[in-house]
Amino acid sequence: RRTRSGPTLNFKAVLLGEGCVGKTSLVLRYMEDRFNAQHLSTLQASFVTRKVALEDGRRAQLNIWDTAGQERFHALGPIYYRGSDGALLVYDITDQDSFQKVKSWVRELRQMRGTEIALIIVGNKTDLEEHRAVAYEEALQYARTVGAQYVETSAKENEGVAELFELLTHLMLEQL
Ligand code: GDP
Ligand code: MG
Repeated sequence: RRTRSGPTLNFKAVLLGEGCVGKTSLVLRYMEDRFNAQHLSTLQASFVTRKVALEDGRRAQLNIWDTAGQERFHALGPIYYRGSDGALLVYDITDQDSFQKVKSWVRELRQMRGTEIALIIVGNKTDLEEHRAVAYEEALQYARTVGAQYVETSAKENEGVAELFELLTHLMLEQL
């Protein structure tokens, strides 16, 4: 499942979540420190890779799979997340439906992959706090009950994004 080439560890992580929650924006912020107010789903490559230096001196290659918008057609299946070490389950904190969608992804991933996949639930768009529809505590409690981590981010304001990907790398390392 996991390939090693020399001292570099290879990890695969997938982004899941409803359309428009900010999955591609999180990747764009992390990879290029940019933000685009336009919808990005069809513009971006669906696979990006970044090398990260680990604390112990080893190097890891983080391979992140973004969707090309197929989530709109409910067309993301096991092939997409097969072999992944981690998943970022993203919702928009102003959109209750997108949080429900995360719950259905959690059920599917736990059923298909058990605990061999690290799950991080991501509440994105914290810059829109005044329109918040899902309480922080509710999301945190839910994450705990399913053995997932919970973080909040704003791809727009660049809040929590670097920390999110650091946590992801850390969790995937722990699973080795
Ligand atoms: P995806 O379909 O999940 O990949 O979502 P996108 O990354 O394409 O983003 C959908 C829309 O939400 C775009 O208009 C983005 O500019 C916007 N967006 C993404 N992240 C944020 C955020 O943190 N805050 C705000 N206010 N808008 C965001
Ligand atoms: Mg997208």
